[in-house]
Amino acid sequence: MRQLVSKTSKPDAARSAQMALVRGKDTRPELRVRRALHAAGLRYRLQGKGLSGKPDLVFRSRRLLIFIHGCFWHQHPDPDCRLARMPKSRLDFWVPKLRGNRQRDLRVKATLESQGWKIIEVWECKITPEQLRKLIVEIGLLKR
Ligand SMILES: [Zn+2]
Repeated sequence: MRQLVSKTSKPDAARSAQMALVRGKDTRPELRVRRALHAAGLRYRLQGKGLSGKPDLVFRSRRLLIFIHGCFWHQHPDPDCRLARMPKSRLDFWVPKLRGNRQRDLRVKATLESQGWKIIEVWECKITPEQLRKLIVEIGLLKR
């Protein structure tokens, strides 16, 4: 499916993923976040079973859930995000699909928050060493 969007001439999610593969470096967003947190001594579980929306990382004692979102599929609501741009063709397909994804994320978030979880959404385009350091500090501040 991602290949459908890689035909544009501008960089996009699919293209960066492809480039990463070409470079032989695994830059999948989840793995980059997981590696950084693990290296910082933070321990978590993967894909909370029984939790709405299957959060990527679960910090049970801190009541914290982290979702690591690909900007395109989850429609990063940041006007500066270049990865979240709508494709230029087949809008009848993409618009409802991508809007639906984002709306589902928001519903899931509301459900989990009502159950007492704190939610952090990490966006693909924001996974920089500096942002990862901030995330580690933020998690560390949450009491176990
Ligand atoms: Zn983004």
